[in-house]
Amino acid sequence: MVSETAKNAATDVPYWAWVNKILIDGRPFQLDGRRYQLEMMRPVTDDGKVKLGEVVKKGTQTGATMGKAIEVCHGALHGLYPQGIIIYFPSKVAVEDYSGARFKALLTDNDIIGKHCNDINAVHKRRIGKTNVSFLGCSGTTIIGGMAKDSTTVRQNPADWLLLDERDLFDDEMARQVNQRLGNSTINRRTDMGSPKLPDDGIDRLYSNSDMRRWQIKCDHCRKSTCMETEFPQCIGLRDGVGYPKCVHCGSEIDRSKGIWVPDHPTVETVGYWFSQLLNPNRDLAHVLKEYDDPIAFDTTEAEFQRTVLGVAYARAEDVLRETEVYQCCTSDQMRNLHDGPCAMGFDVGYPLLHVVIGHRIQGDRYRIVKMARVKDWPALHDLAQRFNVKSTVGDAMPESHKIREWAKTEARYGNTVYPCYVQVHLKTFDNWGTDNIVKVNMTEIFDESHQMVVNPGRLLIPRMCEEVKIFAHQMCMRAKFIETDSRGQVSYHYKKVGDKQDHYRNAVNFFHLACKKVGVPESNRKNRATTQDMSYTLRNNGSRT
Ligand SMILES: [Zn+2]
Repeated sequence: MVSETAKNAATDVPYWAWVNKILIDGRPFQLDGRRYQLEMMRPVTDDGKVKLGEVVKKGTQTGATMGKAIEVCHGALHGLYPQGIIIYFPSKVAVEDYSGARFKALLTDNDIIGKHCNDINAVHKRRIGKTNVSFLGCSGTTIIGGMAKDSTTVRQNPADWLLLDERDLFDDEMARQVNQRLGNSTINRRTDMGSPKLPDDGIDRLYSNSDMRRWQIKCDHCRKSTCMETEFPQCIGLRDGVGYPKCVHCGSEIDRSKGIWVPDHPTVETVGYWFSQLLNPNRDLAHVLKEYDDPIAFDTTEAEFQRTVLGVAYARAEDVLRETEVYQCCTSDQMRNLHDGPCAMGFDVGYPLLHVVIGHRIQGDRYRIVKMARVKDWPALHDLAQRFNVKSTVGDAMPESHKIREWAKTEARYGNTVYPCYVQVHLKTFDNWGTDNIVKVNMTEIFDESHQMVVNPGRLLIPRMCEEVKIFAHQMCMRAKFIETDSRGQVSYHYKKVGDKQDHYRNAVNFFHLACKKVGVPESNRKNRATTQDMSYTLRNNGSRT
């Protein structure tokens, strides 16, 4: 280890921390057993990639946060980031906890850093060497201790390196806006880190867009590599009740310090790390297995175990839809081009297109979608409504409330009643239909409803697989249900956008479900109560109604 880094002893962060016996949380920084942390503490990867964008997806208590704190101090002392370093946390409390306690201890415990800082007790801004190191909290759309939206302030407070910790608790817009601080930087470095929460969201999504490094541990016996994170739980062996890291190829015990970071996507510029508590030498691996087998007995949950111990995003099946579940709704029918109706329509405004779903109730609480389309404007929507004999339409009242009302007036003349819909978080009932044709719906309940439509066999029928159905299936899955606990401890459920946030078809299905309440079952389906097939469907002259 020493010989490897001796050549750049003055500039290499972990070596610097080791020779100076830097105390972290009261204990001296050690290289033994912490090899997986070393590359993460360097501005350049061991395979030579300069870290402009860096993503750290991790379990909790893996040493990553303090490893970065050391790199920050080293960078500040050595003038590597002359325009400053800003560390962001999702809340004011998190800033105070980190900056006021752990980071402060790093300064008071280590004279080599502390003597270069004359405002150790400051919480939001310190000067270390000749570098400003700021600690800011983002809450909702404001940054505590600095105005993100004020361009003057941004110019006055530039930075060369931004770090965002606990990334999944940030508002996405906020996480984007902080980049303004780098506007004048030639170094232009950004680090996002945190434990993942939902799959394909936050840090999990950032990691999958990175070069996706994993710690590959080489076996002395068979020379093959094992990644503890991907091979859990087979990577843990038990000997007299004591756990040890195990080669998944030959079963020999492996030494976790004999690993290297190997990117799955080496050509991607952003550097990404994923590591779990399985790499922490202080973690009892036998205990990890016990927690995995019975999380409740250890006062945790499957979700928390996955996220905090393994650094894996987790969503319960009942909280997210999966594309395979949507595909199971496919019938063998093509998308229809026209329909006798009466049909119901749901649409969502997603710039620059309107996403439309048309269909009808089959019987009871079962639905068939006969057409899904993305159209460019209101006349095109009108054309569809005519071709499918749409009698009831529900659409997003926001963000174009003015346009939908105007369109509703024209449609009324053609026998299509349009209900602008407001999706509300706190509505006391499932839905509320006003005399002015305005409909309100409870957000959580309508998403629950469309979720149930998909997962219960036969409740929703959609056309057979085609390109549009693929887009539909993808967009159906871009929401996830999560629990929110407010300051008074009140628990509530919300659906949050995830992934690429393109959830328009999901919204359209929600609206379609509502629209079906205002229209009867087509005759062809009424005659065939015993079957789901449209056996008595009669062909009519194509184009007679266009
Ligand atoms: Zn082996």
